[in-house]
Amino acid sequence: MDGLRQLRFAILLITVSALPACSRNLFQGTVNLPNYDQLNSIRRGLFALSGPKSQLVLPNPIDAASDPYIAITDPRVSSLSVVSTLPNLLIPSRLESEFIKMRIHSINDALSSLAAPDASGNFTYSADTDHYSESLGYYSLSLIQTYIEALGFSLNKNRPLYVFVLAPSESGTSADVNAFYDHHKFDPSSSHTMSFYGDTSYKVSKDRDMFFHEFGHFVNESVSAERGIDFAGDRGANYTEGAALHECLADYGAETLSGHPYIGRWIARNFSEFQPGQPLRSAQDTGPVMQFAEVSTNDNRSLPERYAVAEWCTRVLWRIRSQFVLQDSYRGPIDADRLIYSAISLLPQDASFTAFRSALLSADQKLGGVHSRTIEAAFAVGGFDPNPSRLRQPLSVIGRAEVARGGSVNFNLQVSNPNGNVARNVRVILEQVDARIVPVISVQGFGDMPAGATVTVSSQSASAITATVSATGGALFRLRVVTENGNDGIYEGAL
Ligand SMILES: [Zn+2]
Repeated sequence: MDGLRQLRFAILLITVSALPACSRNLFQGTVNLPNYDQLNSIRRGLFALSGPKSQLVLPNPIDAASDPYIAITDPRVSSLSVVSTLPNLLIPSRLESEFIKMRIHSINDALSSLAAPDASGNFTYSADTDHYSESLGYYSLSLIQTYIEALGFSLNKNRPLYVFVLAPSESGTSADVNAFYDHHKFDPSSSHTMSFYGDTSYKVSKDRDMFFHEFGHFVNESVSAERGIDFAGDRGANYTEGAALHECLADYGAETLSGHPYIGRWIARNFSEFQPGQPLRSAQDTGPVMQFAEVSTNDNRSLPERYAVAEWCTRVLWRIRSQFVLQDSYRGPIDADRLIYSAISLLPQDASFTAFRSALLSADQKLGGVHSRTIEAAFAVGGFDPNPSRLRQPLSVIGRAEVARGGSVNFNLQVSNPNGNVARNVRVILEQVDARIVPVISVQGFGDMPAGATVTVSSQSASAITATVSATGGALFRLRVVTENGNDGIYEGAL
């Protein structure tokens, strides 16, 4: 399987409303005004007053050189580097703050194998080395951490974050290219980890925006008080709207901090389906406006793809941000970020795009309430209907459950939408109604089902619902099919 689409929290994986008083009204009341000068300094990388220096090519060689063909070993690369400060080191000789711990391969790396300062106390390396990646990672993660905190959002740093700039591939193939953040949500004794994969000519850890993206997943968890905006995904669901939203917000953080509406021109060089210079994902439409139905529809040949849905979502957010920037180029990006991160703080467990849209509108209210039309229009232009017409009948489920060797339960189901209109955000949930049947992967999301559509839930597929059974003989199960615009469908049986 394509790793870009398998790893959780991986990489790969407007209208104008005339609001001249926007910046005056935005943070009235109890909300503190942001320090725009400080935040803009951080955005420009001037966030650290003291610390060792590093020479970094920002955000990556392709963007720095405006040359889609440039290689990491090109002699021009070093001339493009800028002096960058590495703040908050616990000791001068190691790239570690209280929170961020840079490593190369794993948590067990010998400390003597890691980047160390030169005689001047600086971390200066050629861009093609792992030590350069450690330095770039430390700088990038420190920058985004400082920005989010200065924006007024607290990050839960109770556990350290270990970062592996060239992690050994889980598949054993050095050409597997990806990046992966693991919050270890259900294992609180473990550190958070961030892994960059792929021993190729275009290593992921040469791009500041990749570090921004992965850190974005940590920000999402922290700002939403770890209530699990993709709780189903945390427990194994292949696709949910919450998963797409997680990726969208991680991309948005990288895009807004970089100030450009795309991510991944460097990493995309690893993949033949991308032209050199073409980004992995773009937050701006270059042709017709990407419509929600294009990415969210389940046609029973494939699930919605979380990164495609995420790309659609970033275009909604970039439309909102662009409107803010149009009104005030200095404060606009910061005000947009405050709105969007405030919305994250309001998201429920297993968040949907409907919930996200509501959260943006609520956050706007808290911040002064002048951007509701911009938010509504940004979703509407992308073809998102917040009030789809109600379904006359619930979705139907037929199928069977079988007990396999070892007590695992396989569900083979056909879920159908018998209505004449689309069923929004369909999920199948295995509820525990009998202690003998213990759900393992209890929720899967199936996106939007068109009128008359049927999707298959198969034990063979990536979207399998799984459970274990300790004893049969009448053990009861219940499957609930939920959609945002209809009543639940129920399918019950016994093993
Ligand atoms: Zn991701």
